Amino acid sequence: MLDKPTIKSALDIPVAQRMPREIAPGVFWIGDCLAQRHKGKVYHGYNAAFLVTGTDASILIETGHPKDFPVIERHMNELFGRGVAPLKYLFVTHQETPHCGGLGRILKTFPDSLLVGDVSDYHLAFPQYEHRMRAMQEGDAIDLGGRSFMAVEPVIRDLRTTWWGFDTKERVLFPGDGFAYSHYHEDGHCGLVAEEAVSLDLPDVSSTFADLALFWTKFADMNVYCDRLDHLIERLGVKTIAPTHGLPITDVKATVPKVQAGLKAAALMPETGTNEKAPVPAA
Ligand SMILES: [Zn+2]
Ligand SMILES: [Zn+2]
Repeated sequence: MLDKPTIKSALDIPVAQRMPREIAPGVFWIGDCLAQRHKGKVYHGYNAAFLVTGTDASILIETGHPKDFPVIERHMNELFGRGVAPLKYLFVTHQETPHCGGLGRILKTFPDSLLVGDVSDYHLAFPQYEHRMRAMQEGDAIDLGGRSFMAVEPVIRDLRTTWWGFDTKERVLFPGDGFAYSHYHEDGHCGLVAEEAVSLDLPDVSSTFADLALFWTKFADMNVYCDRLDHLIERLGVKTIAPTHGLPITDVKATVPKVQAGLKAAALMPETGTNEKAPVPAA
């Protein structure tokens, strides 16, 4: 009897092996998924990183989760092997582990790189790299050769120290915890941009993420924040959105309203808490 042929589907190939993905010319999505359980479901999240490459220099945006460093290092080396400009800058949107968990290892592995953005407190964790830290304020830009990377207003943020980033050439917005939503591995969403993941209910997964990770959205009028987001997108002429936790958005007009619907819906629901809770035993 003949063995059944093994058919490899996209589901069998981990996303780490399918990256880097170029989401706009010279803008590469790198990293891996992170599986999390919530209410009996397995959600996948990203702690993505992005490499923006100019003619003279590249900038890494976010470092991924600590576990992601070997994957991110491999993806970057693959890109440098293809001839992209060397890493001269690292920008992290804020001081939280899924965003900056590889910071020390990046600065160690790429000794010519500078840490840019909000740099509060990093000198306390890494005094040996203090001389390589440069603070950025809103509107400050770094020339990469043929394109610039700018610090911009962080409308939806986790910490007060957050900055968002913007690539002036392809008009890509890097909003950190903005546009945060999970996806489903079983549905084949891993490695897709938002518009390709047609079975992903964006308002639903956006509201779940806001509920779990952005508690302040419960106490704010999210209509005001969504209006401000529209204003920023309009002012910068954003063409692509590269969030740290969500799938990249390549059709801003079609997709942004779906994420905003999730934020507005989550704001009206009571907070469920961040951990899966065991049932309380009867007294
Ligand atoms: Zn985050
Ligand atoms: Zn995934």
